[in-house]
Amino acid sequence: MKIGFNKPYFTGKETFYIEDAVKRKKISGNGYYTKKCQNYFESNYGFKKALLTTSCTDALEMCAILCEINNGDEIIVPSFTFVSSALAFVRQGAKIVFADSYNDNPNIDADKIESLITHKTKAIVVVHYAGVACDMKKIMALSEKYNLIVIEDAAQAICSKSNGQYLGSIGHFSTFSFHETKNIISGEGGLLVINDDRFIERSEIIWEKGTNRAAFFRGEVDKYGWVDTGSSFLPSEIIAAFLWAQLENIVDIQNKRLSHWHYYQKHLQLWSEANNIQLMPIPSEETNNGHMFYIVCKSADHRGQIINHLQRNDISAVFHYISLHSSKFYNDRHDGRVLSNSDKFTDCLLRLPMYYELNPSQVVEVLTKFKNH
Ligand SMILES: *Cc1c(COP(=O)(O)O)cnc(C)c1O
Repeated sequence: MKIGFNKPYFTGKETFYIEDAVKRKKISGNGYYTKKCQNYFESNYGFKKALLTTSCTDALEMCAILCEINNGDEIIVPSFTFVSSALAFVRQGAKIVFADSYNDNPNIDADKIESLITHKTKAIVVVHYAGVACDMKKIMALSEKYNLIVIEDAAQAICSKSNGQYLGSIGHFSTFSFHETKNIISGEGGLLVINDDRFIERSEIIWEKGTNRAAFFRGEVDKYGWVDTGSSFLPSEIIAAFLWAQLENIVDIQNKRLSHWHYYQKHLQLWSEANNIQLMPIPSEETNNGHMFYIVCKSADHRGQIINHLQRNDISAVFHYISLHSSKFYNDRHDGRVLSNSDKFTDCLLRLPMYYELNPSQVVEVLTKFKNH
């Protein structure tokens, strides 16, 4: 039987809630299911204000507007991440100053951030890669020292914690993704979290095409109209209804994914030590949310061999993130610094199949064959 890399999981209640949304005869945004989902996030994760968006990319674009990024402002972003972590700010005119990863962890190296800060620096974007937290203590201390805004790109980090605090509740802003490759899905979809009071009122306006419509419907203002910039960042009730079915089952989804993760870890521990292959590091104060299981191969060639071997055994393993500083789009604008750890993960990181319905014993069996051949 073929084992794919990802398979979206449906709880079975999605179409029921979508049908209900249709019956309620209000399928545009900010309705019954949107509020239900937003309340859920605000009550369970310590998020001050939650707004559903049509993607994590959108939520990051909202951050760029709310931070009032102007031409020439500098934003520090890890190079080893998805395009959107940088793109959202580039569209607003920012210059991206790419930061390197740790040697043994793809997350932004918090000890190397300070040397990148100038009088033009406005914000730091941190990405909790594979749902494992960046060093938020150090990063928030830098933010205070230099008066910088911190945006957590928590696209992969739902339900994960750092020192007991949920990821996404620590920075001034955070963003999540419900793309079908993430733990909790709605096809496309996202969430913007605003933890700093200063930005809350404006965030709702930007979310709804620069209008004060949300405040109007709460009866807080007597007219609604165009008051600011913005766009249409909110998803329809159809998407929110789908998402609600997922949130209702979030405990089960997380438990299942984590059990796969621990199964991989347990069965690959000795093999990885004997073969000098690095498994995912989880610092002691951080948690893992079963988003991803990756290994770090010895070289790009070595990774290619493993991918081909797994392919011949009908297993799909994939790699991702070509360092953004050497991307076709940004290469010319990068300041030329070598980011060797980011490049190492670009060449050597390999993700194994990870999804709800996976039967990891099959994968381990193939890896066992591989290590003995
Ligand atoms: C998936 C992902 C995104 C983009 O999410 P969308 O919802 O598809 O816009 C952004 N950043 C990171 C780190 C991601 O993993």
